[in-house]
Amino acid sequence: MLIELLENQSYAVREVSQGRYMKGLVPLLGGQYTLDILRDEYMVRLFSHAQIRKGRAYTLQQLAQIALPDDAMPRFIEQIAQLTQREAFIRGYRLQCPTCDIDTWYSLDDIAENVVCLGCRIPFQLPLELDFAFRPNRLLMEASKSGALTVLLTLYHWLQDSPITLWLAGLEVSKNGQTTDIDLLAQREDGLFMAECKDNFNVDDLEALQAQLQVGKSIADAIGASYAFATLTEEEIPATLHDFCETNNIEILPRALLLRY
Ligand SMILES: [Zn+2]
Repeated sequence: MLIELLENQSYAVREVSQGRYMKGLVPLLGGQYTLDILRDEYMVRLFSHAQIRKGRAYTLQQLAQIALPDDAMPRFIEQIAQLTQREAFIRGYRLQCPTCDIDTWYSLDDIAENVVCLGCRIPFQLPLELDFAFRPNRLLMEASKSGALTVLLTLYHWLQDSPITLWLAGLEVSKNGQTTDIDLLAQREDGLFMAECKDNFNVDDLEALQAQLQVGKSIADAIGASYAFATLTEEEIPATLHDFCETNNIEILPRALLLRY
């Protein structure tokens, strides 16, 4: 139905994989209302970490050293438990083979008193003491690399005021030979909302961003949607961009609004 709204305005629409990763991630995390789990500064730090996005496994202690929850440590532990329960993080062990030296992550299912090395295939005995290592689910990795943090936090922000009945992320729309992306389009009970979402952007090069926002805004106008620019950037949003958005009736959703403070 959201796609039809665009098609009725003569846009050709294609759903790209990035958006499908995000659609898949939401039920994995427990549904729209549990996206609240991403709203902490330290969770954003965790999911923005390059090695986590590459799927490296870490112990709980190491995860805390990356995320730095400080005095929210009890809550952080609860969140990791919840994410592991939902298999957004997968519990296992990191083992180093005594023969070939390779350091690899093994899921709980692959663990026995003697483990066959995933490298040289020679069995070795488990160490007597070892911490669990938590590896992100592949969907979580791919979605966060595709900008899911800003998109899903925007979705969560929007549903605070009224339930979202339908939403789509990652649409590629074209008209008259011009192609652009819609990061997020949501149907709320009280109206239609569309956003350009960026984890980060270069504050020294606003021209390209403003041109992109202008195109987005014209699509939003065509389908009767409110339009917002959401960003998790830690840099201060330049006054020029504020002015531009105000003039063009684009709402800015900054980090301070998307996260819990
Ligand atoms: Zn080996």
